[in-house]
Amino acid sequence: MKRNIGNISILVLVLLNIVVWLVFPPVNDGRENFVRQYAGEIIGANNIILMACSLFLSTRPKWAEKYFGGLDKMYLTHRYTGTAAFVLIFVHVLTVPITTTGWTLGNYLAVIAFAGIVSIVLVTLAPRIPFLNRITGGDYDDWKKLKRFIGIFFILAFIHSLTVPHPLHALIAITWVQVFFIIGALSYFYTELFGGFFKKTLPYTVESVRYPNNSSTEIILRAKKQPIQKQRAGQFLFVRFPGDKTLNESHPFTISSAPREDVLRVTVKACGDFTRHLFGNLQAGMDAVVEGAYGMFDYKTGGQKQIWVAGGIGVTPFLSFIRDMDGNLAQDVDFYYTVRHREEAIFVDEIEAAAKKNPRLKAYIRFSSTDGSLTVDEIVKNAGGNISGHHVYMCGPLPMVQSFEKKFLEVGVAAGNIHYEEFNFR
Ligand SMILES: Cc1cc2nc3c(=O)[nH]c(=O)nc-3n(C[C@H](O)[C@H](O)[C@H](O)COP(=O)(O)OP(=O)(O)OC[C@H]3O[C@@H](n4cnc5c(N)ncnc54)[C@H](O)[C@@H]3O)c2cc1C
Repeated sequence: MKRNIGNISILVLVLLNIVVWLVFPPVNDGRENFVRQYAGEIIGANNIILMACSLFLSTRPKWAEKYFGGLDKMYLTHRYTGTAAFVLIFVHVLTVPITTTGWTLGNYLAVIAFAGIVSIVLVTLAPRIPFLNRITGGDYDDWKKLKRFIGIFFILAFIHSLTVPHPLHALIAITWVQVFFIIGALSYFYTELFGGFFKKTLPYTVESVRYPNNSSTEIILRAKKQPIQKQRAGQFLFVRFPGDKTLNESHPFTISSAPREDVLRVTVKACGDFTRHLFGNLQAGMDAVVEGAYGMFDYKTGGQKQIWVAGGIGVTPFLSFIRDMDGNLAQDVDFYYTVRHREEAIFVDEIEAAAKKNPRLKAYIRFSSTDGSLTVDEIVKNAGGNISGHHVYMCGPLPMVQSFEKKFLEVGVAAGNIHYEEFNFR
């Protein structure tokens, strides 16, 4: 329940906004399109609230993680609130009466804010819409640079609401919306301008670099002074390497070592610009800047009977679980690690050794190119036929996680018992 409080609160704010506007309505000045203007302003106010929430979530407030189920889930909410605000912009434009004459600053600002927000959101949605992805090229860095301007358009949209000709005078409701404007604007400036002064980043050194296979890099990081605060196995960090221009951009990676280890280990699959460059260029002795730890993907909060499913590089949080258990596992776990080819599998010896040491851990390593794809039916069979009371932990490619989630729900696993780590922040 606690992990839903954040999302529920956002929904409550949106509904409360409608209540505030209904309880403290503007005076009906007898204008022709009063109802349309009134409805349009309520929608516009919800727009400001959703965008403010979205901007607030991008500040990565660590204290709020527990109310969303982890920073990765906060990013999802950030995306959903942004998308909802985007849809409401169109509803707002279609609802408010728009005149073609007598335009003032407020009208021009509306056009600029509309064009800016729509363009940025379309580029954000592009990776999920193949047609748009082809146009934008799907480059994360370009998208990130463009996204930095969203707060400016948010501010322009709000100034438009104050300067547009003939707004309705609903003083209390407008004051309430102003509070959200201030939260959104401050969040934006925090993220883009002065957040760096408050964020707790710590200096590390790359102690060694290893290559578990021909597409992944294992990095061992040692704190120069104070280490980051790790609380649980399975958390993740943000890391950058200031000595190399390409690698000097913070990226999220799971900490695959156990919390008690005096170094941090991360294992990175080469898949894009940053990770490929890292595979070819990272060297021992380089400086690293680490921020974290974040995340709430924690099997210890689950029930007695568990199923873990890792796909590809999604094995990293499970490596941390295994390295943390030290021969003592309080749950019965069926752990499935699936990769396409044998060469892709990493740390298999370690996983098998952990299973030998822990009678309650059963490890199933699956090479789908030769053994066929893993299925939920097979998982159910291995677990004795009924998994409705099990807790499921998954990490892997999004399509895999989504299709497994659907199947797990079909075989009776409660939605609240399905946990997954979101590797995609975009
Ligand atoms: C919580 C979490 C844990 C992760 N753990 C691991 C791990 O243990 N091992 C591993 O190999 N990968 C992990 N990833 C994925 C890893 O962060 C991305 O693969 C990597 O950032 C890709 O960067 P790129 O430039 O090489 O690829 P690109 O092709 O540029 O990016 C691929 C995708 O990675 C994401 N991404 C890219 N840059 C960033 C960034 N600066 N910040 C946030 N997301 C970004 C975006 O979703 C993007 O669409 C994790 C991701 C998250 C969110």
